[in-house]
Amino acid sequence: MKPLAGQRVLRVAVPVPLHGGFDYLAPSDTPPDPVGHRVLVRFGRRKLVGIVVAADVDSELDVDRLKSAETLLDDTPVFDADQLRLLHWAARYYHHPLGEALNTALPVVLRRARNDQTPSRYRAWRIAHDEHPTDLAARLARAPRQREIFEWLASAQAPVDHSQLKERFTNAAATLRALVERGLIEPVERPGGLIQGRMGSAPQLTDDQAVAVAALRAVEPGFAPTLIEGVTGSGKTELYFRRMADILAAGGQVLFLAPEIGLTPQLIERVQQRFAARIGVLHSQRSEGERGDVWRAARAGEADIVIGTRSAVFTPMPRLGLIVVDEEHDGSYKQQDGFRYHARDVALRRAQRAAIPIVLGSATPALETLYNAEHRRYGHLRLDQRATGARLPPIEVIDIRSRPLLGGLSDPLLARIETQLAAGNQVMIFINRRGYAPALACHDCGWIAPCTRCDAPLTLHGGMSRLQCHHCGAAEPAPRRCPSCSSDQLIALGAGTERVAGALRSRFPDVAIARFDRDSMARKGRLEAQLADVASGRTQLLVGTQMLAKGHDFARLTCVGVLDVDGGLFSADFRAAEHMAQLVTQVAGRAGRADLRGEVWLQTRHPDHPLLQKLLAGGYRAFADAALAERREAALPPYGHLALLRAEATREAAPLEFLHAAAALIDAGGDPACWGPVPAPMQRRAGRFRAHLLLHATDRAALHPALDHWQTTLADLPQARQVRWSIDVDPQDLL
Ligand code: ADP
Ligand code: ZN
Ligand code: ZN
Repeated sequence: MKPLAGQRVLRVAVPVPLHGGFDYLAPSDTPPDPVGHRVLVRFGRRKLVGIVVAADVDSELDVDRLKSAETLLDDTPVFDADQLRLLHWAARYYHHPLGEALNTALPVVLRRARNDQTPSRYRAWRIAHDEHPTDLAARLARAPRQREIFEWLASAQAPVDHSQLKERFTNAAATLRALVERGLIEPVERPGGLIQGRMGSAPQLTDDQAVAVAALRAVEPGFAPTLIEGVTGSGKTELYFRRMADILAAGGQVLFLAPEIGLTPQLIERVQQRFAARIGVLHSQRSEGERGDVWRAARAGEADIVIGTRSAVFTPMPRLGLIVVDEEHDGSYKQQDGFRYHARDVALRRAQRAAIPIVLGSATPALETLYNAEHRRYGHLRLDQRATGARLPPIEVIDIRSRPLLGGLSDPLLARIETQLAAGNQVMIFINRRGYAPALACHDCGWIAPCTRCDAPLTLHGGMSRLQCHHCGAAEPAPRRCPSCSSDQLIALGAGTERVAGALRSRFPDVAIARFDRDSMARKGRLEAQLADVASGRTQLLVGTQMLAKGHDFARLTCVGVLDVDGGLFSADFRAAEHMAQLVTQVAGRAGRADLRGEVWLQTRHPDHPLLQKLLAGGYRAFADAALAERREAALPPYGHLALLRAEATREAAPLEFLHAAAALIDAGGDPACWGPVPAPMQRRAGRFRAHLLLHATDRAALHPALDHWQTTLADLPQARQVRWSIDVDPQDLL
């Protein structure tokens, strides 16, 4: 039915797990083009913030029965047309409801029903004197702190944020007051979110870098993806910077994506010390308010560079001229719940739509990316030498099959650590498991402390004192006696970061040791403080999880030990070996950065494993070639395409019943084909039983129609009411 004269209808994407838009009558003050605006609507009994995705639509519903939208919340749209198209694509590709996808892309402050698009204002400082700063600085000769801050402000091209100064200088507030009293500086209010960078000098490019920069500059205008495959320390970041400088000079904006653990203070600092640009930083350590500010500034075109983690890929940037995806292989680019997008793949699509270059960089590219580069879908540049001339360290194996371990450490490794420490060097021990030990067991009867809600043992924390489940969060004090046979012979099985650090502490009592994992880094600012101690050389021994694997550059780090690589060799997840090889190569890249020779030791019980052998003999590329051959054999990605249908329920049989019904909707013997369903490798988690069904297609184009069909029919299956289900396109994790 046609709307009544003058009665406009809006189609609104609402953040609910339902597909399609919902129609509402437009409020009277609706602007001529409200698409991309947030709107408050009544949905059932709730009021939700939706996004107008179309205006003046011909509703299929009876207009008299349509509800009126409550209010439009913005004066300007939160999403422009390009962003909406990108998100429409992503919602379709990942088979996720549009309203939820849009909601995920919005910063949290804008998910609320408030018109708070005006950025917060922050206090900043600038020089308040006409006299030449050098002369003024000379007057501060006897006040070194004041002089330091003064010179810092004088060298900046714009006011510097108070918070930035506080982070950088001790006792900044008092020093700033003293400078104000002298009449040398003054406060100003600055719109929030952005950091002002300063122009820094660029190093002379190495020959390899120069060739690569020339190649990056030679690409045709328009969409141009390039993979930079460069060993750790080869100067990839310098290449990004050169391209960024070109784009910024031409008036473009740059989006720089980094994985959560790669987005270190060091990287941000480097960007800030290089470009006299307005820089927005988006990552989980920033407050919601700050993130909202960066987002608004980017959309207004005020941010020149946005540097951020996964969700930053959705930042609106009207003058976007380049996307950089650093460490493109990193697993954190894939969102593992809700809207399960892959930020690298969304970034590629975004660059394609915007017809701009995109640079993917890694020392250990994902097998999919290597495949695309080899099939000439991407430009492919290689840097095989370190920029500083340092040599890559040799990787050697320690067979621990019949060796006693002290807190997870073998004797040969301890001996190497001792030698390196004695020489005044730094050593990093990497173990991808936090806590004291992965299990508590009874020596007499073999009982292992289980999680009552998961098919997994509990992890020991705080020495032998506490038990914690890493899957559901359950926590309890550790028993003193075995609940099964009352023996008091309880032992910790295996080792986590805490136990390794403890063993090293007792073996090297005079050495400063720092632990890096999610538990020890929970407090804000702790990571930065610990990293500063490592950089200064005070901390000599580092023990940590993958948090340590990337982005850090320590001059005296010469020895890296990796304690368990075997998990990656024998896993239900076909990507596990790839992840193991990437991790080993990345952590190895931390060793011997400057003039000191590095060495890397892997402890394993499977020194003859073929993929491990490839990695040791020929490096990541040899490994990747072998792994790609295995994938081709098994028709796994990139040679086949996958989607995973997950289901979980409190009743054990319900997930499989649902998945069998889902499989019956797919033509048997065609493309795509159903692999499964099967119970998940960890069948019970947080009290729910889990199973999954893989949809495998030889032809990617075949996958999506089947998923479309599922998407519209699965919810109506009678078995669907018994389970929670979700579709995961290009799943990264099959566990
Ligand atoms: P990657 O990103 O490939 O790991 P980086 O860009 O971080 O490498 O460079 C590694 C180190 O080499 C850094 O300390 C960097 O300052 C230095 N470096 C990079 N390019 C050059 C160059 N052309 N000349 C001298 N040093 C360089
Ligand atoms: Zn027992
Ligand atoms: Zn649990």
